[in-house]
Amino acid sequence: MTEVHDGATLRAALLEIACDFSFTWIAETRLLFDALAPRRFAELHHNPTALLSELTDEDLARAATPDYLERLARVQGRLARDRGQETWWRCRSGPADLLVAYFSAEFGLDESLPIYSGGLGVLAGDYLKAASELGVPLVGIGLFYRRGYFRQQLDENDRQIEHYPLTDTSRLPLELVPMAPVVELADDDGDLVPVRLGVWRVRVGRASLYLIDTWVEGNPDWAVTDTLYGGDRANRLRQEVLLGVGGVRVLRGLGLEPTVFHLNEGHSAFLQLERMRELVEEQGLPADEAVERLRASTVFTTHTPVPAGNEVFDPELVRLTLGGLVERCGLAWEDFVALGKVDATATGFGLTPFALRTSEYANGVSELHGAVSREMWHGLWPERRLDEVPITSITNGIHQRTWISGELEGLLGDTEPQFERARELPAEELWAARSKGKERLLEYVATTRGVRELDPDILTIGFARRFATYKRASLLFSRPERLAKLLADPERPIQVLVAGKAHPADEGGKDVIQLVVDFAREPTAAGRVVFLEDYEMTLARRLVQGVDLWLNTPRRPFEASGTSGMKAALNGVINCSILDGWWAEAYSPECGFAIEGRAEDGASEAEQDEADADALYAVLEEQVLPAYYERDKAGLPQRWIALMRESIAELGPRFGTARMAAEYVERLYLPAHEGASRVTSRVA
Ligand SMILES: *Cc1c(COP(=O)(O)O)cnc(C)c1O
Repeated sequence: MTEVHDGATLRAALLEIACDFSFTWIAETRLLFDALAPRRFAELHHNPTALLSELTDEDLARAATPDYLERLARVQGRLARDRGQETWWRCRSGPADLLVAYFSAEFGLDESLPIYSGGLGVLAGDYLKAASELGVPLVGIGLFYRRGYFRQQLDENDRQIEHYPLTDTSRLPLELVPMAPVVELADDDGDLVPVRLGVWRVRVGRASLYLIDTWVEGNPDWAVTDTLYGGDRANRLRQEVLLGVGGVRVLRGLGLEPTVFHLNEGHSAFLQLERMRELVEEQGLPADEAVERLRASTVFTTHTPVPAGNEVFDPELVRLTLGGLVERCGLAWEDFVALGKVDATATGFGLTPFALRTSEYANGVSELHGAVSREMWHGLWPERRLDEVPITSITNGIHQRTWISGELEGLLGDTEPQFERARELPAEELWAARSKGKERLLEYVATTRGVRELDPDILTIGFARRFATYKRASLLFSRPERLAKLLADPERPIQVLVAGKAHPADEGGKDVIQLVVDFAREPTAAGRVVFLEDYEMTLARRLVQGVDLWLNTPRRPFEASGTSGMKAALNGVINCSILDGWWAEAYSPECGFAIEGRAEDGASEAEQDEADADALYAVLEEQVLPAYYERDKAGLPQRWIALMRESIAELGPRFGTARMAAEYVERLYLPAHEGASRVTSRVA
C-alpha cells in the first residue's frame, strides 16, 4: 500500500487501485476518482487511468485533503481485506490442479473497457469477478476490439448513428504480454495469411483475462479485431478462429494447462479443433479418441434461442481458413462439416451444433431456457426422448457488489451485503435509500444527457436493453392513448426512461428507437417520456439503482435469462415483466408483477403482442399504480416497501454470480475435470 504525502504518491496510490478491475466492485472507489474532476471523469467514460494521465501532480496535491486521504485509506483497506480473505474454493478444498479456461467473445467489466454489447458480455464480466471472489481457478480469454461495439447518438431525424472511437491502449490498465502466437486466416481472396496475435492481460482481482488483438506491426492491414461483431461474414469467421484457435495458442504460450474448457456461447467453438490437433499431432492419438477426450473436459453454455444468436457459416468459407487444420486433425472434411449440422438436411455449419457435439456438459441460462434449448436442439439426439436431451440449466446471476447502490450496501452490512436484513430495516430507511438512488439518477441524466424535466415524486419506469426485435420495446407504446392518459394523470402520473442500442445492421430496431423518440416529442407525452442515448454500464447502474419499476416485455420464450431485472431487484426496484427467462422462476406476487397476456394456443405473433399489451396496461393500472401511490400517514408507500423488502431479501442472494459460479463448479467443472483425467489415464 502506498503511503501518501504529496501529489506524486497520491498518483501512485490511485494507479495501484486503477490497474485492477476489482476497483469496479467498491462503490466508494469510483467516488474517489469522481471527486478529482467529475465532469472530465464522465467524459472519459469513467476511465480512472485516463483521468490520472491528464491530471498534474499539483492537481492531485490539491485534491489530497485530509478527508480525501481518509476515504482513500478506507478503500485501500477494503481492497486489502478482499485480497486477504479466505476463499470459498480454498475452504471447499477441491482438486489442486483444476484450471478452467473461460472463453467469451465479449466481456463487460466496466464502462471504461468497451468490449461488450449487452447481456452476454456483462454476464461474462460479472462471472470473472465472482471467480476472483470465490477463488475459483479460472482464466478468461477474449478479443480486444480497438473500436469496441459503438457509441450511440441520434441524428436530427431521431435515427441512431454509430460512432466507433478508437481506444487508446496506453490509457487503459492493460499489460502487453511478451508473446506473439500466430494464426493463419484467409484473406478476401481466400489465401491463407499468417497473423500475429498481440496479447493483453487484464487483472480482475485473483482472476486474469487475456485479450487477443491483431493490431500488431507487420500484420495485413485488414483489421480483424476492429469492432465487436463487426465486418462481413469472412471477418466474423476470422474473429471466431482468432478467439478459439488463437485462444488455445495463447494459453499454451502462457504455459497454462487448463483441465476444463468453458465455451460461453458458441463463438469460441473452434478451440476444439486446435485442442484436437494437439492431441492428434503432438500426442499421437487417433481422431476418434481425441474427440472423446476433449469432449469429456468441455462445458458449453448456450445463451439464446434467437436464430441470429446461433451463428451459422457457409462451410466453404470455413474451409478456406480451417480446411488445413481439419486435415491435420485426421478428420475427413465431410465428417467435420457433419459435426456442425443439426441434422442431415442442414446446409450451413452451425457453431452451436458443433459446440454441443463436442461438449459433454451443456446448459441453458434459466430453467425455462434449458427446456427451450432441449427442444430446439433435439435434432442432434433424435434417438433420445426430449427430457433426455443432454442440456441442463444453470440460471444466470449478477455480481451484486458491482450493481448494488452504495446506500443500500451500507444498510445491508459492513463487508458483505446481508440481503435478509432488508426484511428488518425500518421502512423510512429503505425508502430514503431508494429516494437517494433516484435523486442520483436524475442528477446524472441532467448532467450527462441534458434531461432536466423529470420529477422525483412520480412513479418512474425504466426500460433499458438492446433493441432486438424479440425484446419488444414498442409494446408499451402500442397503446398511445392509454399511455398518454397514464403520463398526464393528475393524481397518479408515471414517467418513463428508455435506453438501448440497436445492432448497427438492424433497421427494424432503429425504427423502434425512432418511434419512441417521436412519441416523446409529442405534447401527449407531457415531457414524461425520455430516450437516453448511449446505454452502457454506467447508465445501466444508475437506472437499476434509481427508477421505481423495471419493465421487461420480451416475446416469450426468447429472453433466455435477462439479467438487468436481477440488478434492479437487488436494489429494491420492482420488476414488472413477462414470465420469461429468469422471471419465470423468480416471480411471486410478494416481490413483483407478472404480465401474462392470455392469447389462444397457436396464436400469431401479432395476436400474442396484442394480448401482452392489454395485460401490461391492466397490470400497470390495477396493480402497480395503486401499490405505489397508496401512502400512510408518514407519506410512505407501505405496500410498495413490502415488495422492495421481499425483492432484495429473496431475489438478491438467489440471482447472484456467487450462487451461479458455485453451481458451475459443482455440477459441471468438477465432473469435467474428472472426465479429463479419466480419459487421460485410460488412453495412457
Ligand atoms: C445488464 C446489462 C444488459 C443485459 O440486460 P438484459 O436485461 O439481459 O437485456 C445489457 N446491457 C447493459 C449495459 C447491462 O448492464
